[in-house]
Amino acid sequence: DGALELKSAIVAMVLKKADELAKINVELERSNRELDAFAYIASHDLKEPLRGIHNYSTFLIEDYADSLNEDGVSKLQTLVRLTQRMEDLINSLLHFSRLGRVELVMRRTNLNELVESVIEILKISLKETSNVDICICRRLPDVKCDRIQMSEVFSNLISNAIKYNDKANKSVEIGFLDQETTNQPTITFYVRDNGIGIRQKHLDNVFRIFKRLHAASQYGGGTGAGLTIAKKIVERHGGKIWVESTYGEGSTFYFTLPS
Ligand code: ADP
Repeated sequence: DGALELKSAIVAMVLKKADELAKINVELERSNRELDAFAYIASHDLKEPLRGIHNYSTFLIEDYADSLNEDGVSKLQTLVRLTQRMEDLINSLLHFSRLGRVELVMRRTNLNELVESVIEILKISLKETSNVDICICRRLPDVKCDRIQMSEVFSNLISNAIKYNDKANKSVEIGFLDQETTNQPTITFYVRDNGIGIRQKHLDNVFRIFKRLHAASQYGGGTGAGLTIAKKIVERHGGKIWVESTYGEGSTFYFTLPS
C-alpha cells in the first residue's frame, strides 16, 4: 500500500512538473517571438534615418568639396564609414530576426553552380581578391536545400576565408568529405583557408552573435553576425557546423547537410 501511494505521489509530482515545464515552454516561445518582432521593427525603423545621414554626408563631400579643407573631408569620410558600419550591423540584425520567420524553400540544388555564382559575386564585392586562389576541388554533389539561405552560408564562410587572411598568396578550398570516411547519412562540406587561424580557446566562440576575435580595422568590416547566421541556417537544414583551426596556419569550417 505504502509503495503504491509513493508511486502515485511520484507520478503526480512528475505530471505537475511536466505541466509546469510545458507552461514555461509556451511562455519562452512567446518571448522569443516578441523579441524577434522587436528586433525586426527596431532595426527596420533605425535603417531609414541612418540611410539619410549616410546620403547627406556623401552629398556634403561631393557637393562642397571645394569649400571644405582636408580635415573637414576626412571627418565626413569617417562619418560615412561609421554610418555604413552601423547599417551593416542593422542589416544583420534584420536578417537574423527575419530568418526565424521565413519558411525554408527546399529544392534539389546544383551546389556546384550555387557556389560558383557566390564566388563570382564575392569577387566583385570584395576589394582585394586578385591574390586569392579560390577552388572547388571537385564537383559538389546536388543536395536538397533552400538556395538563398545556402548561398548565404557559403558566402559568409568564403568571404571570411578571404578576409581573415594575411598571406601573400591566399588560398580558399571548397569541398566535401567522402561519405565512407564520415560514415554518416549526411554530407560534410568544408571551406578551408590558409589564413590567420583561430586560437583553440576561441573555436566555439566564433559562432556566438556579434563575437569578433580580430580587430575590425585590420581585417575589413564585419558585424560578427555572419557565422551566427550560418549556424542558424545550417541547423534549420538539420545539419551542424564546426571549425578546426591551427593558429597562424589556417582554418577549416565544416558543416553537414542531409544527403
Ligand atoms: P565578422 O566576419 O562579420 O566579424 P563572423 O561571425 O563571420 O563575423 O565571424 C566572427 C569572427 O570569427 C570574426 O570576427 C573573426 O574574428 C573570426 N573568424 C571567422 N572566420 C574566420 C576565418 N576563416 N579565419 C580566422 N578567423 C575567422
